[in-house]
Amino acid sequence: MSAAPRILIWNEFWHERNNPVVGRIYPDGIHTALADALGTHGFEDIRTATLDQPEHGLTEEALESTDVLLWWGHKKHGEVSDAVAERVQARVLAGMGLVVLHSGHFSKPFKRLTGTACTVNWREDGERERIWVIAPEHPIAAGLDRYFELEKEEMYGEPFEVPAPDELVFLSWFKGGEVFRSGCCYTRGRGRIFYFRPGHETFPTYHDATVQKVIANGIRWAAPTLQIRERPANVNRRPIEAID
Ligand code: ZN
Repeated sequence: MSAAPRILIWNEFWHERNNPVVGRIYPDGIHTALADALGTHGFEDIRTATLDQPEHGLTEEALESTDVLLWWGHKKHGEVSDAVAERVQARVLAGMGLVVLHSGHFSKPFKRLTGTACTVNWREDGERERIWVIAPEHPIAAGLDRYFELEKEEMYGEPFEVPAPDELVFLSWFKGGEVFRSGCCYTRGRGRIFYFRPGHETFPTYHDATVQKVIANGIRWAAPTLQIRERPANVNRRPIEAID
């Protein structure tokens, strides 16, 4: 199953159509740029969905045919319906992988799944980000050097109000001085969640080959190894032997 995960890339798709700077970098949307990039990494089953579609493109049927969901959102987190956010959460608990990108840290599904505020410090000055690989043995770090850099990025700084990650793969340093936990791995229920920080919309981050490699690695890591299915609810069991 993990050899060929069925990928669904979800994007708010608002900035690209409302900010000319973003529209020039991602003329067909961040979701399309990611889909094209992932196609060069050996993935074949790649679909996209956006906020404006019915049920945001995240119908029961769409999620049932998804092994790993990618999520990019920013300004319109509040417009994602609670019902859809709950559906995504349930699907993750049942085993679907979730790769949360950049400002998706503040999305309804990620906040529901972590149970925390998910707030950060931030600064939008376009400064150098050095992303340190602090778990080189981790599958998400496969093929990477000790660190990689993005010349211009938005800064996210600690404290990042999330639960301590099960595994921390990347730690970012920013020119302005802050640090940030940029590659956080969680398990919730049967599902794996990878949060990856870079990807501010006014910089060409998702055209960066190393960033694309990390996302591809993250998808392979998050892909379910078991059949995706919900656990039964509380079950009242009879004893196997008589208890007396
Ligand atoms: Zn941003």
